[in-house]
Amino acid sequence: MTDIFATDFKPEPYWWERAPRPEIDADLPAKADVVIVGSGYTGLNAAIQCARGGRETVVIDAEAPGWGCSSRNGGQISTSIKPGYAALAKRYGHETAFGILKEGHNALKWIGEFIGEEGIDCDFTVCGRFYAAHASSKYPVIAKSHGTPVEGLETDAYMVPRENQREEIGSDFYHGGVVLPRHASVDPARYHLGLLERALAAGVTVVPHCRADRLSGSAGNLTLETSLGRITARNIIVATSGYTGNLTPWHKRRIIPVGSYIIATEPLTPDLATKLIPKNRVITDTCKLVVYYRLCPEGRRIIFGGRVSTYETDPVKAAPALHAELTARFPELIGTQVTHSWMGFVGYTFGEMPHLGARDGVHYSMGYCGSGVSLASYFGMRIGQQVLGLPEGRSPLEQTAFEGRPYYWGNPWFLAPALRYYRWQDARAS
Ligand SMILES: Cc1cc2nc3c(=O)[nH]c(=O)nc-3n(C[C@H](O)[C@H](O)[C@H](O)COP(=O)(O)OP(=O)(O)OC[C@H]3O[C@@H](n4cnc5c(N)ncnc54)[C@H](O)[C@@H]3O)c2cc1C
Repeated sequence: MTDIFATDFKPEPYWWERAPRPEIDADLPAKADVVIVGSGYTGLNAAIQCARGGRETVVIDAEAPGWGCSSRNGGQISTSIKPGYAALAKRYGHETAFGILKEGHNALKWIGEFIGEEGIDCDFTVCGRFYAAHASSKYPVIAKSHGTPVEGLETDAYMVPRENQREEIGSDFYHGGVVLPRHASVDPARYHLGLLERALAAGVTVVPHCRADRLSGSAGNLTLETSLGRITARNIIVATSGYTGNLTPWHKRRIIPVGSYIIATEPLTPDLATKLIPKNRVITDTCKLVVYYRLCPEGRRIIFGGRVSTYETDPVKAAPALHAELTARFPELIGTQVTHSWMGFVGYTFGEMPHLGARDGVHYSMGYCGSGVSLASYFGMRIGQQVLGLPEGRSPLEQTAFEGRPYYWGNPWFLAPALRYYRWQDARAS
């Protein structure tokens, strides 16, 4: 290890210090009304709906509860749907494009209201986002895309030119940017624990360390063979997103697992933390090789994530490159050490949009393309409503095809060349 690592360095999520992964001792029942595979935000939000709707509900996970992305992420919350209105309107027509983007807005609004109504103690804060131009040519691009929102999709965004940028970030790395005041932050693992508590209170049986290996049967009479035995159910929800495997090959051929890497710094002095991120915003920028960062909830450490390696790697190996990206933005942090480094697999899709629905009687919701704090929660809730047969569970996103690609079976061989190309594009932007 080089000296960027603190002596108490841990190769696991910083969030697990604040919210250790719970151990639950539960046997796998022989049958249930609904079995949900995956105990992240999708699985638990679906479970809460199903159990409160009177269904006997079981959630299983191959690992500890919330072990996947839902306790590892950056805790940044946005309106989340990646393609813009023009691109979506070209693909699906104006009405569907509006409906899809509106779902991103609905998700952001819904998660704030849900956390408030449920009283989940998870440092949810409407802090706003600073989305920064990493090259001067990017500033007018951002200004154009945020300048004239479609009616009904307003964001209250406003531009911050470079000369005023230090009001938003203590750095001269950028060429101005846009503030999106409605975006929010959360402690992701504490949010997950809050969901778990509510699911258990609603009567959900959560069985950790139970891997689903085989699925058979048809709508209304489904069987899962698991590492802890067999369970039959009327409904099954697949909530495995970036960890989707051979259980459901159809989904595996449509999900692109992309490793995202992330570090936490040692605590900074309060003065330095305030100087670097004065308004406690969450921050992202126009680099195609995405970075995302923020202060942790107690306001002292910086949590800095992104994709820095061409191939998947050990998070300890990724930490120096993340630290270099951090210090390129904040040279004051060159001597600041890293206390935690970890990674997780984000579920991308070929159309850059999430997908939910049912196929052969099996429900699913997945593929949030790196914006799953709100989207996984919201669509998890919606897929739970679909299982209950409620009309409000339907989403305009169901009008989009969940596409695979020829010669793609779940191993993203095209990622390395794409990342190299993105790196080249980022470097040549001026
Ligand atoms: C490093 C990182 C940073 C991120 N930052 C952000 C962010 O700032 N903002 C944002 O909105 N999103 C972010 N995301 C994405 C977000 O965390 C995810 O989209 C979201 O958590 C997905 O939730 P989920 O419940 O669908 O899946 P997950 O939380 O990944 O859960 C899937 C679960 O399925 C289980 N599983 C898989 N196969 C099986 C099987 N066969 N049997 C049993 N269990 C199985 C896994 O063990 C896993 O626990 C980030 C992701 C990562 C990795």
